[in-house]
Amino acid sequence: MLLWVTALSFFLCSAHSFSVKASLDRNEESSGNTIEDDDFSISTLLEKANANVGKNLDDPLVMFGDIAMPSGLQNADPCTARGCLWPKASDGNVYVPYRISNQYSQNERNRIIQGLRSFAQSTCIRFTPLNRQRDFVDIQSRSGCFSFVGRRGNGQVVSLSRQGCVFQSIIQHELLHALGFNHEQTRSDRDQNVRILLQNVIPGQEHNFRRIRTRNLGTPYDYNSVMHYGRFAFSRNRQPTIIPIPNPNVAIGRATQMSPTDILRVNRLYACNSTSSKRHLKPTQTDIFLKK
Ligand SMILES: [Zn+2]
Repeated sequence: MLLWVTALSFFLCSAHSFSVKASLDRNEESSGNTIEDDDFSISTLLEKANANVGKNLDDPLVMFGDIAMPSGLQNADPCTARGCLWPKASDGNVYVPYRISNQYSQNERNRIIQGLRSFAQSTCIRFTPLNRQRDFVDIQSRSGCFSFVGRRGNGQVVSLSRQGCVFQSIIQHELLHALGFNHEQTRSDRDQNVRILLQNVIPGQEHNFRRIRTRNLGTPYDYNSVMHYGRFAFSRNRQPTIIPIPNPNVAIGRATQMSPTDILRVNRLYACNSTSSKRHLKPTQTDIFLKK
């Protein structure tokens, strides 16, 4: 309920044009089984915010909804196999320098910083203000929400458009791309967990549902991952494009923030050890972290 109210207040406070169809007295998390419920899924937010992406020639090529493609490397192997992790410091933390464009209002900037800090609460990732390092994430309001996957070298744009991207879920989602993660429904084992209905996908958008040889790091497929698209992602006909199996009624793509599995994955990919970040954990998160 608290999350719902928080999410809703973001919608109500920000000056964009989403229609809020849900009523305020709603007291349980919606199932995400109707296209109206899906208005709040990550993929719906991305689709809306990215309606104009690619029209600006300065922007990189964006595919798979919100993934910026390096020029000439459109079919690269999974990024983490190419050594695109951010380096680990001798104290066990992974410092990722960032710069935030001055396009943002103070309120938007604070929300972005809150998103950056959320990683320090449960992982060994430490986003730190740029201080002459060569590689860094360059957070800008471009024509949508998008990010490269993994460290690219030098300044890499993470676009969080002021029109529709400055939400906790999307900030974490784009930063997870920059740390090396792909969308949950592209996982190598996704066909055991979801059915993709290509016949309902907007023609030309089928690539969003391509399967990738991901490193799953011994973690289960997670419908609640902040990297999972919603049931109606890229639908051409208001029919579902992703259906969970075996139970088709399970809610998917409804995360408003990183799930425990998202956190576990970051900790595994970056081999975070408990001494480097345990003291920052809230009691409820310690378990997840130590389960490693
Ligand atoms: Zn994405």
